Amino acid sequence: MAFTEKLFEEPSDTVVSDADAHVVGVVVNTNVWRSFDYIWPDALDAPALGQRVYVPFGRGGRKLLGFVTDTLRRAGDRKLKSVLEVLDAQPQLDEPLLKLGQWISQYYLTPPGMTLAAMIPSAVGRHRSRSETVVRMEGSRGDWPSSLGARQKRVLDELFEARRQGVEELPLGDLLRHSGASRDSVKRLAGRGLIRMDSRPVRLAELSDETAADPFELNADQLSAMAKLKEKLGAGFSATLLHGVTGSGKTEVYVRVIREVIAAGRQAILLVPEIALATQTLERLLKRLPRVAVLHSGLTDAQRSFHYEQIRDGHAAVVVGPRSAVFAPARKLGLIVVDEEHESSYKQDTAPRYHGRDVAVKRAQIEGVPIVLGSATPSLESFRNAGQGRYELIRLPHRVRNLPMPRLTIVDLRKELTSAEHRIELIGKTLTNRIASTLDRNEQVILLMNRRGYASYVFSPSSKWVMMCPECSRPMVYHQATALAMCHHCDRTETLPERCPVTGGKLVLFGFGIQRIENELSRKFPGAIVARMDSDTMTSTKQFHRVLGDFGEGKVDILLGTQMVGKGLDFPRVSLVGIVSADTSLAIPDFRSSERTFQLIVQVAGRAGRADIPGEVIVQTIHEKDPAIQFASRHDYDGFAAYEMPLRKEIHLPPFTRLVRFVVRHADQQRAENGAAALAKRLREMLPDGLAVIIGPQPAGVIRLRGQFRHEVRLRTSRGGLVQQFLAPRMEELSRGIPAEILADVDPTSLM
Ligand code: ADP
Ligand code: ZN
Repeated sequence: MAFTEKLFEEPSDTVVSDADAHVVGVVVNTNVWRSFDYIWPDALDAPALGQRVYVPFGRGGRKLLGFVTDTLRRAGDRKLKSVLEVLDAQPQLDEPLLKLGQWISQYYLTPPGMTLAAMIPSAVGRHRSRSETVVRMEGSRGDWPSSLGARQKRVLDELFEARRQGVEELPLGDLLRHSGASRDSVKRLAGRGLIRMDSRPVRLAELSDETAADPFELNADQLSAMAKLKEKLGAGFSATLLHGVTGSGKTEVYVRVIREVIAAGRQAILLVPEIALATQTLERLLKRLPRVAVLHSGLTDAQRSFHYEQIRDGHAAVVVGPRSAVFAPARKLGLIVVDEEHESSYKQDTAPRYHGRDVAVKRAQIEGVPIVLGSATPSLESFRNAGQGRYELIRLPHRVRNLPMPRLTIVDLRKELTSAEHRIELIGKTLTNRIASTLDRNEQVILLMNRRGYASYVFSPSSKWVMMCPECSRPMVYHQATALAMCHHCDRTETLPERCPVTGGKLVLFGFGIQRIENELSRKFPGAIVARMDSDTMTSTKQFHRVLGDFGEGKVDILLGTQMVGKGLDFPRVSLVGIVSADTSLAIPDFRSSERTFQLIVQVAGRAGRADIPGEVIVQTIHEKDPAIQFASRHDYDGFAAYEMPLRKEIHLPPFTRLVRFVVRHADQQRAENGAAALAKRLREMLPDGLAVIIGPQPAGVIRLRGQFRHEVRLRTSRGGLVQQFLAPRMEELSRGIPAEILADVDPTSLM
């Protein structure tokens, strides 16, 4: 396979000359599209496609990571540099993954070297595989001499006991811990021939039979979904959208389908939003599935390499991870599942700006395996694909055990607030009463307030001055815990001025954030224990585990959080969910804000009444007639889709078209603006008629970010990936001479 065939021209670099040398084509991890030729040192084993190498690059001879993409050529009389180092004896990326990389590079308009580099964790290959020492008993109990120390005796007893239960070997670490014996004294036992110590590679754990047991029978809907999915296993590529309401038992269906895959000797990849890896979802999966490799951002490099190698060697049966797990080197792939497929966290916001779900569908296609996309609130993109027959739609329309959906009540915030004490509050009468009665019944509450910080603006009424981030064109948000103003776009913090810098007048804090709600709760419910869950308080997975653990054990009464609380939490004693303001996500100027609002309400509402206590949901808003809120309050996904789709169609927006967004950025305003203008002009000249509509140049939604000015050009097309097919080979031409950085974002999920 010639990876670079279509996309790249012939190479150029010059240094060494050797007419007989073996030459390979290499793409490097930098913003260059071509491949370059390098001499492959004779001392090395023959090169393989996809092998990672270090090569000297550019005039300074910078050492860069690269990938062998062509092994076929031999040198003419050109002068070439030589490959410096080979990282892997065997390529990490096999043929299907290389093909996927090629597709990503083209579709997401990202240079191939950068794309391939993003597909392999950089730690891989830099750690030796872990091994552990195991101990077994030699001979029988009768051989034990009487001169043993008490701890040595305990070691032998433990091994004897284990053997009686059919376990021949125990890990040395466990033995030392249980017996209190030292390593040396265990070694002396081995010296006397009473035990044997062996080293063996550490592997992912199998499941013991009792934990693996199915905790319940599937219901009729789950059974019929299972039957349909089972038919697809081993039968080539297919895509299924599993639309199941919250609490309908989707996870249970994944578990059982994945078991079928494992029984057939194949591997499965389960993509989940990053945050789900910190919730009970992961624990539930680990209890039910054997040999689970987990890839997430909390791993150390050594752990990550270990899991990666277990997958590549075929020992891992299941891979669970966020979007990057779509690149897991499972060579016996049998199924991909994408849970919560609507989540925008599947989109990567650095190059390659890929969408994990869409890449997963492509991978399934390349590998010829089925893919299942699951959600209670499918993205309109996936729903349309289902409507057009590209995906099969399977539904789980009811909650398990015939539990009712929680009842939603919309309350008009303007009629709800009493400001008797001239205090600004945001928890209205209805919600206050419901929280009180829920706490009285000793049940739990989840509250959503999807805005971080305390106040959204630091404002001067006398001059209308608003405190802005010095690096971004956005207001700074006041945080009470630190008493600092913080930019939510670049994380910069600033101290608050004491007075208005224009008039010297008083400053006020304006707008609501979650910290203010926290204060209001402690004022109104002094006896209740409140835990706040947002990215300011949850800075590690450990904290996340602790808060969720405490909530699960009933040590916390009210869990107050940003959208984090809307993701997969399953707590039986939660009978009330309150959405403090449904308006925060509606107010974002984005064509998806209605869809996002709908999803958020339905998902958070879905946390209520998941077991035997019926659930209730209070939605506070000042837009009580808003269709997204109305449909969400009736759990009416189809109604929402039927309302929203024609609107999108009418104004030519996804899922009826696709967008490609170019952001041109530079610290100098003029250069960013001129760059975008030049880019737009070039695109207008270059693109064949009818391929795409060109919008812009125009200032980006956030015109200044981290000190960089940003202007954009958008393309809108109804012709699938054809625009990228046309543009990818021309990316260098397109940006030539433009003195600003150009970022490509295909199918953007944020237009800020
Ligand atoms: P979803 O992913 O659709 O929100 P889950 O798979 O988390 O739903 O299931 C919700 C709860 O119901 C979980 O606690 C799960 O263990 C339980 N559950 C799933 N299937 C069944 C079933 N057939 N009978 C009883 N309980 C079930
Ligand atoms: Zn900023």
